[in-house]
Amino acid sequence: MPSIRTKEFTPRASEAINNPTIQESLGRLSNFRQGREEAIAEFGQERWDEYKKRAQEIKHETMEHLDHYLDMLSTNVERAGGHVFFAHDVQEANDYVAGVAQANNVKTVIKSKSMVSEEMGIADVLESMGIEPVETDLGEYIIQLAKEAPYHIIAPALHKSKEEVSELFERILGTPAQSDITALAAIARKVLREKFLKADMGMTGANFGVAETGTIVMVTNEGNGRMSSSLPKVHVATMGMERVIPRLADLSTFLPLLTRSATGQRITSYVSFATGPRRSDEEDGPEAFHLVILDNGRSNMLADPQLREALYCIRCGACLNACPVYSKVGGHAYGWVYPGPIGAVVTPSLVGVPIAKDLPFASTLCGACREVCPLNIDIPRMLLKLRSDANEGPKGTRKANRVEAMVMRGWRMTVGGPRMFTMAGKVATLLQWPLSRNRFLRRLPPPLSGWTRSRDFPKVAAKPFRSRWAAMALPPSKEGSDGD
Ligand code: SF4
Repeated sequence: MPSIRTKEFTPRASEAINNPTIQESLGRLSNFRQGREEAIAEFGQERWDEYKKRAQEIKHETMEHLDHYLDMLSTNVERAGGHVFFAHDVQEANDYVAGVAQANNVKTVIKSKSMVSEEMGIADVLESMGIEPVETDLGEYIIQLAKEAPYHIIAPALHKSKEEVSELFERILGTPAQSDITALAAIARKVLREKFLKADMGMTGANFGVAETGTIVMVTNEGNGRMSSSLPKVHVATMGMERVIPRLADLSTFLPLLTRSATGQRITSYVSFATGPRRSDEEDGPEAFHLVILDNGRSNMLADPQLREALYCIRCGACLNACPVYSKVGGHAYGWVYPGPIGAVVTPSLVGVPIAKDLPFASTLCGACREVCPLNIDIPRMLLKLRSDANEGPKGTRKANRVEAMVMRGWRMTVGGPRMFTMAGKVATLLQWPLSRNRFLRRLPPPLSGWTRSRDFPKVAAKPFRSRWAAMALPPSKEGSDGD
């Protein structure tokens, strides 16, 4: 598993906020937002809502009978000549993939973009075995060269400027500096083409695993999914267990939602289907096909009625683009594979709330993520549940420290009656004087200092609202009612 740096959320978020290059890159999220809006407008809002409803129903049905559909998927993959491995955790998944690589004397693995393979950290495992793993999605290739984690679910190198990419290629590939994006893409294409031709094994993800046919479906814009799954002699696909869908026909619901939500496209350049290995009468395709289905904590999410809905996610990335927090702090602040609002739910659920307890708080709860989600996933509700989990002890015992408990008790007394409240206002007006500047308090003393560390705190008004209201109130009318 890749290193988990979720506890560094605050310093990494501050670093991103103070980095002008990253802020400029994050500004490009508006292109995704605009593309999505235009695509939905063209599709028709009413039709869009119908598709969303249908997708939710399919996901609901699937999650209610997940064991049945996974079993059906597995049976049909095997019927088509493939092998299926259910991995309880990333260790088991990595061991299986490493075993396949070893058995086939693999030297080079080409990889198509897959969040599950990031979750597994399979590239590091292969490298430690002396096998060369090569990312073939352009964004993934860039971050592999930079030895970084993906920044965004669908745009892994979103944070890199073209100048940074040029410098990276110059330093690692020895190519001349380029300021033209097409020329940079051509450099990567040339290098990757050779890797494609010499690879012995291809690894892909699966946007969907179709239970009724045993087919995995890959949605890409660069064609690297199709190349990775068809050129080498061995194809290994990895998918989270929630990516199964019951029927092939269900794709007609999910694909329009996925591509429009993700990139604002009617359809991506490539939608590739793989059903088992090459048949005896086929010219192309791998000799062996393996499907690794990963649990790694998803069963726990399935068992939790409050978190189960997060498994409906089709990883379109729209919630990241809409989130005011992600739009400022970027992807690396989240410290693991899944960033943004859905990452703030999935990461604590998979790695444990104590390790990732800052993430559910990295939200204003504005609801923009729920609004744009093609599956209507209620992310804010789940963030509140995880916040509550983060603040509760193992048996529901409150873990609030003594100072916090004292402050809360004092607050309850203060707001419990008008007399106390008025008196507290008068005292606060006097006490705030040395801390105030213009209309704001510069900094509050501990334990309240967190409130003023990075935002303005308004001063307590010299004349409270209640006194001003009393002064403004009109004298009672002398005229009576109509009497009717
Ligand atoms: S939670 Fe919804 S909007 Fe976010 S990535 Fe998943 S499907 Fe897309």
